[in-house]
Amino acid sequence: MKILLLGKNGQVGWELQRALAPLGEVTALDVDTPAPWRADFSEPQTLAAIVRAAAPEVVVNAAAHTAVDKAESEPELARAINATAVGVLAREAAAIGATLVHYSTDYVFDGSGHAPRGEDAPTAPLSVYGRTKLEGEELIRASGCRHLILRTSWVYAARGGNFARTMLKLAAEREVLTVIDDQIGAPTGADLLADVTAHALRTIAARPALAGTYHCVAAGETSWFDYARFVVEWARARGHPIKVAPDAIRPIPTREYPTPARRPLNSRLDTAKLRAAFGLHLPPWQAGVERMLAEVLDH
Ligand code: NDP
Repeated sequence: MKILLLGKNGQVGWELQRALAPLGEVTALDVDTPAPWRADFSEPQTLAAIVRAAAPEVVVNAAAHTAVDKAESEPELARAINATAVGVLAREAAAIGATLVHYSTDYVFDGSGHAPRGEDAPTAPLSVYGRTKLEGEELIRASGCRHLILRTSWVYAARGGNFARTMLKLAAEREVLTVIDDQIGAPTGADLLADVTAHALRTIAARPALAGTYHCVAAGETSWFDYARFVVEWARARGHPIKVAPDAIRPIPTREYPTPARRPLNSRLDTAKLRAAFGLHLPPWQAGVERMLAEVLDH
């Protein structure tokens, strides 16, 4: 399998470099790769020549404008990266008969209610990020290319900054921490997403009818508040320097923590379709977070 991986240095891109390696020859690019392989999604049309030159059987796109609040003040850039560039990849994939793998988000939904959403639930994004990610999805589906779109949520990785690391830093410095407790979702490891991608790609190669849009998150659910407490107490129990007392991590509602972008309260995604189609078991979110914490803290 000849694979073109774009966005190789993001959380998911980095893990994909590892997980895709056994599938075949991987050409991994990002915006810092020297010309003529520089894959800059803010210049969408330049991606067409890259896909044609690489002539892959699979294009995996892990690049995105993921700065959710910043996107509110730079909607054109977010749209170029999350939608227009993705449309170019889809068009080129369709032209050469390649499969396109892409990642999307729970932010395509408005987060009303309390039930987990299935893939066909009505979309209604609340933010520029959500709208541009949805537009990217729609361009892929309209292109007619064979595709795998994995919608996920609350992605973390051992590499780079993430919510857990931020909480640990704050917990070591502050006596009181306030964390939002009314947004509910599932923290999902970039390593899990990459491994699911590799497994699904192998399966789709044998059974192309399984291509499509799927929800892919770790099992279970939590709030940012309980997630923060889980991380801080895990670190405290292992003797890492934590200043904040257990009862000084306090819940606050979203309305008391205003941000430029609105976020869905209910980020629950139903993964039944993915598990059934690909015969997968999705581990509880705590398992992946503990592993990431061990990688980050225990050495
Ligand atoms: P990251 O932000 O870690 O990675 C995104 C990558 O895209 C980075 O390497 C970034 O480079 C790159 N990028 C940004 N701008 C450009 C550009 N103009 N041209 C080329 N590359 C660019 O995101 P994740 O790995 O977490 O996200 C992977 C996918 O999962 C994305 O599609 C995202 O929308 C989706 N997702 C992520 C969630 C999350 O919580 N992170 C939640 C739900 C879905 P640089 O770092 O140099 O800017």
